[in-house]
Amino acid sequence: MKIRSRCWLVVLFAAPLLARAAGPAPALPPDNRFKADILLVVAHPDDETGVSAYLAKVLDEHKRVEVLYLTRGEAGHNNMGPERAAALGAAREMEVRHALATLGIDNVWFLDGLDTPSQNVLQSLARWHHGQNLEEVVRMVRFTRPEVVLTWLPGFFIGENHGDHQAAGVLATEAFDLAGDPAIFPAQLAAPVKVNETLLEGLQPWQPKKIYYFSDASNQEQFKNTGPVYSVADLSPSRNLPYWQLAMNAFSFHLTQYRTYIEGLGRKSAAEQQSDWGDPVQLTFGKSKVEISRTGDVFEGIGTVPVAFVPPAPPAVAPLHPFELAGPWGFYQVFHQQHGLTDLPHAAIPEIAITRGADLQVPLTLRNTSTSAQTFSLSVSAPKTWTVQEYTPIVSLQPGEVVPLLVTMNSPTTDEKTTQQITCRAESGGQTVGVVELHVKLRSGGLPQ
Ligand SMILES: [Zn+2]
Repeated sequence: MKIRSRCWLVVLFAAPLLARAAGPAPALPPDNRFKADILLVVAHPDDETGVSAYLAKVLDEHKRVEVLYLTRGEAGHNNMGPERAAALGAAREMEVRHALATLGIDNVWFLDGLDTPSQNVLQSLARWHHGQNLEEVVRMVRFTRPEVVLTWLPGFFIGENHGDHQAAGVLATEAFDLAGDPAIFPAQLAAPVKVNETLLEGLQPWQPKKIYYFSDASNQEQFKNTGPVYSVADLSPSRNLPYWQLAMNAFSFHLTQYRTYIEGLGRKSAAEQQSDWGDPVQLTFGKSKVEISRTGDVFEGIGTVPVAFVPPAPPAVAPLHPFELAGPWGFYQVFHQQHGLTDLPHAAIPEIAITRGADLQVPLTLRNTSTSAQTFSLSVSAPKTWTVQEYTPIVSLQPGEVVPLLVTMNSPTTDEKTTQQITCRAESGGQTVGVVELHVKLRSGGLPQ
């Protein structure tokens, strides 16, 4: 009897609560603890290093900086212990959290992409399940509402040898263009219909105002005047250290990757350390939704009012070439066009660095753009120390037909100092229909193609 009375009491007191729970949730503004001025989107722990001196500088200007890592960098070596694979990823996540905490960055997010040791951006995108990953990056842009997105340059350069870096730049660019579009990933934008909603996310569309890039390419000269450049020699007023030194100190947490170098740093003089860390930070302007100058400050024109999403104009349709380089090089041609980035720096002649003695695969596209059947003959030329192993020398195509082709060749093991030139030529009816050139730098080690 006593128990029964208690049950009635519970029902009586719970009734108003249940009535409220069934109605619309009170409208709250977005959670401002996670609002970013800059969202850095990169692939691996340590990828922040190239811009961390700049980030330290804007943190002194009371800007909010957040970082999104698309992998945990678990595919590398470990200079600290036996841990590998997912365990190494756990170590690297913690190293970078500590590194960023010393700079004053606490909001650090990780997605579950797998670290992919390859130079080919398409392999990274495939391994990360491109569409699913894009949904996650768009979510984080809507969640953190950055004014500025900063990311790896989506392009293929000698020295920018990691497909994951390029893939981070591709996804960040796609998210920049899509996060403000209310038709994209609408479940993220739908209002919750239950108190404990598990599917509809209650986010708002968000259009960042600007996107900037940086690159690991060996030739940094090519990025001069493509965006703002920041000295790292100034003294941080909050830390009383130059910004290069703050960057170096943050880097010293990446022991699984660089233990030997970091221990050596401690034995170097201040001048030697500055020689390692004192280069200015060069950014490359991508695009902007506000009026700015290309080389002006990152926060020029940002203001406080959000910008509305405007659907981009459809890109001009590029003419179809009968014979062209495919794979990652071909992808970037289309990607830059589609995303209004045709002004981004790119190698005048497509390029790659590979290990001496490794095979080189040259992916090609051949299409018959005429109105009659055509027979093409292919030829490949390379320096005489190379061995051309395999390709199809004669191809017949019906009008409109397109085929992928692959030329495989073996590079010399000799120490060739100069950039190697590979040329593929397609001819039909005694006329050249297309010439593809590729510059190849030979080196010791490095990621597979
Ligand atoms: Zn990396």
